[in-house]
Amino acid sequence: MENKLGFGLMRLPKNEAGEIDIPRVSEMADAFLARGFTYFDTAYVYASSEVAFREAVVRRHPRESFTVASKMAGWQLNDTRTPEVMFNEQLERCGVTYFDYYLLHSLQPSRIAGYEKNDCWNFCLQKKKEGKIRNFGFSFHGDPVLLEQLLNDHPEVDFVQLQINYADWENNAIWSGENYRVCRRHNKPIVVMEPVKGGLLANLAPELQQKLDAVRPGKSAASFALRYAASLEGVMMVLSGMSDAAQMEDNLRTFEQFEPLTDDERRAIDEVTKALLAADTIPCTSCRYCVAGCPKHIAIPDVFKSYNMIQTYGDHSRPHLYYGELLAQGNGRAGDCIGCRRCEAACPQHLEIVSLLKKVSAVLDR
Ligand code: SF4
Ligand code: SF4
Repeated sequence: MENKLGFGLMRLPKNEAGEIDIPRVSEMADAFLARGFTYFDTAYVYASSEVAFREAVVRRHPRESFTVASKMAGWQLNDTRTPEVMFNEQLERCGVTYFDYYLLHSLQPSRIAGYEKNDCWNFCLQKKKEGKIRNFGFSFHGDPVLLEQLLNDHPEVDFVQLQINYADWENNAIWSGENYRVCRRHNKPIVVMEPVKGGLLANLAPELQQKLDAVRPGKSAASFALRYAASLEGVMMVLSGMSDAAQMEDNLRTFEQFEPLTDDERRAIDEVTKALLAADTIPCTSCRYCVAGCPKHIAIPDVFKSYNMIQTYGDHSRPHLYYGELLAQGNGRAGDCIGCRRCEAACPQHLEIVSLLKKVSAVLDR
C-alpha cells in the first residue's frame, strides 16, 4: 500500500514574492522519495508547476527514481498551440524525454469537442507508440453516462483519474461512487484526485473532528479521507496536493502504516458526511480554473473559502478580515459579479457560481 500516495503539484508552497518556493518543494520531494514514494502529478495548467517539478525533482534525482504524470489542456489548444506544440513544451518544462503517465485533462461535456477537434486521442496513442507516453489516460469530471460512453469509445486508455472522496460518494454533481463503479466494470485502474476535497475534509469543524477522534484518537481528518480512498479496490494511486512539510509528513505516515478503515471508522465517516451535507457550505475545491477568465477579477475560491469559514466555525471576524485583504489586493467583491458565467463553464465541480456569489455577497459585502 505504501506506494499508493501520489504527490499532487497543484497547490505548492509559495515564497514572499508569490512564486513557487523551489527550496521548500525540493525538501518535500526529497522526503517523499526517501520514504519510498515515486509518483508526481502535474499539468499544463497548474501555473509554473511543471517547471517547479523539473527544478525540485528532475534536476536533483535520477530519472528511474520517480514517475511523473502530466496532462494536456485541450481547451488551450489553437491553430498555433497544437497538441504537438503543447506536448513538446511540457516535456521541456518538465525536463524529461517521456511521461510515465499522460492524461487528457478534465474531460467533461464542455471540453470533449476540443479534444476531438484536435484529434488528441490519436495523438496520445501515437506518442505512446513512440515511447514518449508510457501510460495514457484521462481525468474526468462528468457523469457516469458520459464515462461509460468514453470508455466504450476508447478502450485503449490505460487508466482513469476520478474525483473520489467520502463526501462526494453519493453526490449527484460529482458521482464519485457511480463513476468508480463504471471504471471497475471496464477494468480500468483508478487514480484518485481530490480525496480530501480540496482541503475541506482535512479541516473539519471541532464537533466533526471529535466524531473521528472518538474512534481513532490522535489521527488527522485528512488521514481518514486518504484511507477511505486508498481502501477501495482498483485504486492504483491517491493524489494529495501537499502544500507544506507537515501535510507531507502526516500523509507519508498514513501510507507507511496503512490500515484499511474499520467498521467503526466507516460509521464515524458516515456521520461526518451527513453533517457536512447538512451544513450550508460551498463545495469548491480551490482548483482556481474559474479565476483567470473573470472580467471582474473576483477571487472566487477565496471568497467561497471566507463564506465556508463562517458557515463551519460560526466565526465572522477572521473571514471578514481575509475577505478585506482580498479586496485590498485589487480583487473584485462578490457583489461585483455581472453574471457572464465564464467561470461556470470552467468549473469541474459544476457549481452555480453566479447564484452562490449572490448568497455570499449578502453575508460578506454587508
Ligand atoms: S459570472 Fe461573475 S464571477 Fe463568473 S466570470 Fe462572470 S463576473 Fe466573474
Ligand atoms: S468555483 Fe469551481 S472552478 Fe472555481 S475554484 Fe472552486 S471548484 Fe474550482
